[in-house]
Amino acid sequence: MTGALSIVGLGPGGHAHRTQAAQDAVRDAQIVLGYHGYLAACADLTGPHQSLMPSEIGAEQQRAEDAVRAAADGARVALVSSGDAGIYGMASLALSTAAALPPARRPSVRVVPGITAAVAAGALLGAPLARDFACLTLSDLLAPWDAVEARLRAVAAADLVLALYNPRSRGRPWQLRRTRDVLAEYRPDDTPVGLVTDAGRDGEQVELTTLAALDPDRAGMHTVVIVGAAGTSRLGDWLVTARSLSAPL
Ligand code: SAH
Repeated sequence: MTGALSIVGLGPGGHAHRTQAAQDAVRDAQIVLGYHGYLAACADLTGPHQSLMPSEIGAEQQRAEDAVRAAADGARVALVSSGDAGIYGMASLALSTAAALPPARRPSVRVVPGITAAVAAGALLGAPLARDFACLTLSDLLAPWDAVEARLRAVAAADLVLALYNPRSRGRPWQLRRTRDVLAEYRPDDTPVGLVTDAGRDGEQVELTTLAALDPDRAGMHTVVIVGAAGTSRLGDWLVTARSLSAPL
């Protein structure tokens, strides 16, 4: 017998930004796995009839294996992530773990999309992602910093709006400062920048600044940093990127 695994993006935090499909997948599961903070974020959807398997940050491979094994053993399983599970989330790990099983044991797997942090932050800032943009993670836990910086330089040179995930944590204190200094080689000092912390959650915070004035200490583990490109302007409290590459807004 093979069960089913749903890899679920819960959105940025608040219940209002969770999709109906994500809610249904969590409610319908017999086993719900995830980082304990994400299980707390969907505690309103779970109950005593379900088995909850919280885990710590950093236990991703084990979590993926537990989820896939439980589904292969016949259970309906939900593996929850914040935002979208396919963006710096658990989906690729869980899918490759499932693909490594012999075909007869492979459970059916589906990925349920969620609103990612860049999109939640973009809406709070206005319309900074109106044209081409790139998401980059500044985390160098899964890549050497040189590789991160090479990508940063490529997108900076391509004049894309940037959504910077994982800009700062206790263990990664200098990467955002370095990023600002690299971007300053490509973009003017007055390039608009928005910092959005805890989008859609308690304590939500939005700050507008410029590339030259960007203070890396204003960002934390729950901040996404949006950096404008040539078409991005500050219109009062909004950050807006022109839809046209040639004409003004
Ligand atoms: N899968 C998630 C991203 C996980 S990586 C998604 O699609 O959103 C973790 C990073 O996401 C954080 O360091 C932060 O940069 C960003 N992030 C996640 N939730 C956020 C929120 N509610 N507000 C602002 N940034 C958030």
